[in-house]
Amino acid sequence: MPRPAITAVAVAAETARTGISYSSRYGARCPWCGARTRIYKTCAWEEATRVRYHRCANDRCSLARLGVSIKSVEFDPQSGGE
Ligand SMILES: [Zn+2]
Repeated sequence: MPRPAITAVAVAAETARTGISYSSRYGARCPWCGARTRIYKTCAWEEATRVRYHRCANDRCSLARLGVSIKSVEFDPQSGGE
């Protein structure tokens, strides 16, 4: 049976993979440690959403150590439904 800490990291990694919401004001926070993240790839706007890929900036974070990329999705309500 996996240790609970390992399971929690796996859940955070899964969250990072599927995508978190991006704030134009605060950026995207790491789903594991809550630290700021560094953007390494920004995709073009597609309809009302824009996807970015980040890595956690905290060297001591499990996701950063595992090299997990964090996907964020920005939604622009002004662009939707037209
Ligand atoms: Zn982190």
